[in-house]
Amino acid sequence: AAKNSGRGTYRFYSADLKDVEQERQLLLDDLREALANGQLQMHYQPVVRTKDHAVVGFEALMRWEHPERGHVSPGVFIPAAEETDLINQLGQWALQQSCRDALEWPENIRLAVNVSAKQFCNKGFPAVVTQVLAETGITPDRLELELTETVFMGDTDATTATFKTLKKIGVRLALDDFGTGYSSLSYLRNAPFDKIKVDKSFVDTCTQKNENSAKIITAIIGLSEALGMEVTVEGVEAFDQFHLVCEKGAKYIQGWIYSKARPQAEILGQIASGGFLIEPAGPETYRPERR
Ligand code: C2E
Ligand code: MG
Ligand code: MG
Ligand code: MG
Repeated sequence: AAKNSGRGTYRFYSADLKDVEQERQLLLDDLREALANGQLQMHYQPVVRTKDHAVVGFEALMRWEHPERGHVSPGVFIPAAEETDLINQLGQWALQQSCRDALEWPENIRLAVNVSAKQFCNKGFPAVVTQVLAETGITPDRLELELTETVFMGDTDATTATFKTLKKIGVRLALDDFGTGYSSLSYLRNAPFDKIKVDKSFVDTCTQKNENSAKIITAIIGLSEALGMEVTVEGVEAFDQFHLVCEKGAKYIQGWIYSKARPQAEILGQIASGGFLIEPAGPETYRPERR
């Protein structure tokens, strides 16, 4: 820990920063080791169609159980990996592992995989997608790549070319965390997204009085449908949120109200015990009108 020496606020901060940088390096070393030693796992969170509670797909989410650190959140280790080349190897492993796992699911169930902007902007990325599809035999339209608006921060021509190549390969594209970045509508005009994911932050506040979140959710749903894109509302936890977003026309929901992300073994268990209908957890079971 840094010592506060007399007039040394500068020294205090610089020592602190050194600790932070050192810790980041240690974390990255551990992460490299975790990737090499099989300490990383993919878990799968269902995307559910609200009208009949049928699971239509899963989002693959990376999990890291470190022998001493315990559970490390992807919210921590993914941004660290994104500052180095490691994100490319992590991303490729995630794609490979989740495509292999999806092979054991019914064929009508989709797989969504997060792709970091740095990975997407890597020249070799489309070739990696092609290779993993060929290797596993997953049909391209079962695979959905989740991108965030940060992919548009890089070289525009290269980004446009990558979008074209990915559409030619035939994978689906989703815009993740919509509404939290710059959310320029020109992205929606120009990029070939099949789906928009409404960010959890809108859901968190949508049932509060005097909040605009519910209206924004309604507007995003309307906008997506006008553009012929699907919408998934993310991060629905509570029953009142669930009720509200269903009322606003949400056709697909991903959130703890249905299920957290679970390991492949549990997903397979669920298939074995009769398939993919899940009820929302709540004070009563919500049975929306058929739309
Ligand atoms: P994301 O892609 O927006 O994923 C959704 C996050 O929301 C996940 O957090 C999920 O567990 C969480 N979530 C879903 N429903 C609920 C809910 O009802 N309540 C709450 N409190 N949380 C909910 P997670 O797994 O911690 O991942 C965080 C972020 O890390 C992801 O956000 C994604 O940006 C990144 N990430 C995770 N796995 C990967 C990966 O394999 N590759 C890349 N590039 N990024 C990943
Ligand atoms: Mg995502
Ligand atoms: Mg998201
Ligand atoms: Mg996110």
